[in-house]
Amino acid sequence: MIEQARIEELRQKLNQYNYEYYVKDQPTVPDSTYDQLLRELTDLETQHPELITADSPTQRVGAAPLDAFEKVTHDLPMLSLGNVFDETEIREWVARIERSLGRATTYVAELKFDGLAISLKYEEGRLVRGATRGDGTVGENITQNLRTIKALPLRLRQNETVEVRGEAYMPKQSFERLNEDRAAREEALFANPRNAAAGSLRQLDSSITASRNLSVFVYGVGVNTLSARSHSEAMLQLAELGLPTNNEMQTCETVEEILAYIQHWTRERSNLPYEIDGIVLKVDRYDDQEELGFTAKSPRFATAYKFAAEEVMTTVEEVDFSV
Ligand code: NAD
Repeated sequence: MIEQARIEELRQKLNQYNYEYYVKDQPTVPDSTYDQLLRELTDLETQHPELITADSPTQRVGAAPLDAFEKVTHDLPMLSLGNVFDETEIREWVARIERSLGRATTYVAELKFDGLAISLKYEEGRLVRGATRGDGTVGENITQNLRTIKALPLRLRQNETVEVRGEAYMPKQSFERLNEDRAAREEALFANPRNAAAGSLRQLDSSITASRNLSVFVYGVGVNTLSARSHSEAMLQLAELGLPTNNEMQTCETVEEILAYIQHWTRERSNLPYEIDGIVLKVDRYDDQEELGFTAKSPRFATAYKFAAEEVMTTVEEVDFSV
């Protein structure tokens, strides 16, 4: 069967790209190419559900953690997000949510920070563990490296026990300075701030991470130990605890408000001091989120609108994990 051969070919390619991106922090194709191939595979698997396998890239999150780091099993899996690419798909996504719930609901639109997903565990207000997403179930313990990020409080303002999720990223200015320094030393350049952030955080020597000027935006909770009944309420509580949240999030009652937010940030994204690669849409109320549930790889109550590609591939640093 021609489809089966194409499915195999796509899986092989995507697995290779995943390895280069998640394990080596060194992609060889632009994200738009990856996204297109993944979409083609998803469509073929939808037409032929009997050919779906548990190890297909459509069913798996990220990649297995590096052996160089201690492993961390997440209390609640860290998933990926589904993607929407245009207005029609956004309208379809909203319509699907409202059909499932049987009524309209409130959404939150947020910037999609282009960095590395992290989990931060605070016990009685103290930062006790920081980890990468890894394959969604098991990540890498990078607590020492995350402790070097100045934006992250080592102690919360209250003695709360909470696991939060966020994105570690490299501001544009730090990225430009880093690549200028590397060019001056005739070292290979990082392809983009995302790869620079990922490479910087997965260093065995924390002093290298400390020198890279990373930052963090916290965008949600893992297991909800707060009193919040919605995502927007939880975000206010996290900000009050002293965590670095982003001010640009907006609640939207209609699809038109969602589209206006997307249009605004498509125009304005180049003026931000950090990179974003899209907009994340989330159903606000936790009880609605619970009702909508999850697929194998992502929540049904959230999705990511991806901006059209701008990326140009350049040579990237070989990160030496054996240091
Ligand atoms: P994703 O990046 O599409 O979405 C999930 C991630 O978004 C989360 O893990 C989180 O880290 C991040 N995020 C940023 N802001 C957020 C916010 N406000 N709220 C919630 N989450 C937020 O999915 P993914 O599984 O991390 O990565 C897949 C993407 O990575 C692909 O779409 C592709 O663009 C890229 N990729 C590229 C290659 C390549 O070879 N170029 C290979 C693999 C993956």
